[in-house]
Amino acid sequence: MTYENELAVALDAVEKASALCRKVQHTIDVDAVQKADRSPVTIADFASQAVINMTLRRAFPDDPMVSEEESAVLKENSDLRGKVVGLVRDIDPSATEADVLGAIDFGDREIDFTQRYWTLDPIDGTKGFLRGEQYAIALALVAGGAPVLGVLGCPTFKLNEGDRGGYLFYACRGASVPAVQGTMARPLDGGEPRPVRVDAIADPKQARFCESVEKAHAAHDVHHRISAAMGIEAFPCRMDSQAKYAAVSSGAASIYLRLPRSEVYREKIWDHAAGAIVVTEAGGSVTDFSGKPLDFSMGPKLLNNYGIVASNGRLHPRILAAIKQEA
Ligand code: AMP
Ligand code: MG
Repeated sequence: MTYENELAVALDAVEKASALCRKVQHTIDVDAVQKADRSPVTIADFASQAVINMTLRRAFPDDPMVSEEESAVLKENSDLRGKVVGLVRDIDPSATEADVLGAIDFGDREIDFTQRYWTLDPIDGTKGFLRGEQYAIALALVAGGAPVLGVLGCPTFKLNEGDRGGYLFYACRGASVPAVQGTMARPLDGGEPRPVRVDAIADPKQARFCESVEKAHAAHDVHHRISAAMGIEAFPCRMDSQAKYAAVSSGAASIYLRLPRSEVYREKIWDHAAGAIVVTEAGGSVTDFSGKPLDFSMGPKLLNNYGIVASNGRLHPRILAAIKQEA
């Protein structure tokens, strides 16, 4: 199975959405609206979702899509709605208001999650976006309960010091697209893609781990105990969004830990599908806290998994052993 066409469409969609998010982050006063779960959402979240869903639906009209946002807030708020439609029209001038609202709601939740579907987080790490820090546009194609293609737009991520920042990280399972070997990073400002790889660190004393900035999103205290038990000395690198997966895939960090604060919290598929394949195709490992692979066949949440560990692979057994002892 080759995903050449799917990859080309997904890259185009995430690139357009990344450009839109960058423009909004720097030029418009981005007021956040609170969703029912009290998390923030901005005009850029909605416009990014509309642009990506419209692009995917045109190319793959029969594919189900599971996207994070819903248009209900926009239907009640004409000011917000006008801004979102304006942003989408900058990219696709023929889009009508009905097209934009319809595209946001393409989201299908009642699907067979064991079959092929797309999942999208139009802005993962909205809090990072609002702080002017890391955020990601995360799109993945899932089949048979596992991601087979992932594109992570990371508009503020730097691979090197002095680099302007902004990359699309992408990967397809196995060698399913001959031009894509492992995980690639393509600069958003143009330029050639290049392969990225996890680091080769086997000694925890040289390793750095990353975790959420937001204390409510992950148990920093437990992460600290796990990393101390392994002998990690470096201070954790705190970063919003799936940019943490980009960091592990490119060797900027060796480990990403994410233990929910609440035992009943289950991770959302769109928060992990693209990031997970970006790390595994770069040579790393991604499991839950018990060492099980992530199962994307259960619905919009990872109901079979608790806690997330992404690593360079070499350190994975030691992390799981430390988790057994400390978590
Ligand atoms: P991060 O930027 O890595 O902290 O993760 C951002 C994601 O955390 C959002 O997309 C939410 O889906 C997710 N999230 C929201 N609330 C929680 C929570 N209480 N525990 C874990 N994750 C959460
Ligand atoms: Mg998210």
